[in-house]
Amino acid sequence: MRQLIAGNWKMNGLGQAAMGEIEALRAGLAANPPHADVLVCPPATLIARAHWAAKGAFPFGGQDCHAQASGAFTGDVSAEMLKDAGASSVIVGHSERRQYHHESDAEVAAKAKAAWRAGLAAVICIGETEKERMDGRALDVVSRQLEGSVPKGATPGNTVIAYEPVWAIGTGKTPTGAEIAEVHAHIRKIVGNGTRILYGGSVKPSNAKEILALDNVDGALVGGACLKASDFLAIIAAAPERS
Ligand code: PEP
Repeated sequence: MRQLIAGNWKMNGLGQAAMGEIEALRAGLAANPPHADVLVCPPATLIARAHWAAKGAFPFGGQDCHAQASGAFTGDVSAEMLKDAGASSVIVGHSERRQYHHESDAEVAAKAKAAWRAGLAAVICIGETEKERMDGRALDVVSRQLEGSVPKGATPGNTVIAYEPVWAIGTGKTPTGAEIAEVHAHIRKIVGNGTRILYGGSVKPSNAKEILALDNVDGALVGGACLKASDFLAIIAAAPERS
């Protein structure tokens, strides 16, 4: 299937400079049409402006959403609000949410359902810690997270799975190709054909080609290396042609 390269800006990006990166991305993709679909997940504050600046060249996603559509939840953003701002997807269950906001699998599943309710696709993140991998429990952890975080009703159209080993996020460390392929094959068995399975964790221009060529890798979720349009474009250009 055609790959998806998604960029997670995390809590980075202010007005004009951010729009400059969106414009550079738009121009770069127009000059070199990619073999992959592209998704940009900026902070919620920038989605509407970025959506306008991209002129429809690529879609946008949120980085989290509340499970409720509206209400007395100070500081939270609902899936409906993201949709209203121009998003078509939302990341849920990112390890930084699981770690710093103590989100459980059940909460992640509720957020994924909220995404669907609002008409957004859910990019559901899973992945083991370093200790869990050292203990030989990576596949078990991933199975448990899939079971708990992916609600019934998931389809290739409304759900993307992002396998992101926690120890590889923002560290510069990556699993070997064999380790990535092993986990992706395991996830494939559980979610079936058709659902995109992204790899995330220190993907950069220098390793993207090797990672994106692996079996059952249907794209990448990119953090740090998506902040500069030139790096993100290089990663997107590394996606192989697949139909
Ligand atoms: C992420 O936060 O989803 C991520 C993969 O980050 P990085 O690429 O910086 O490791």
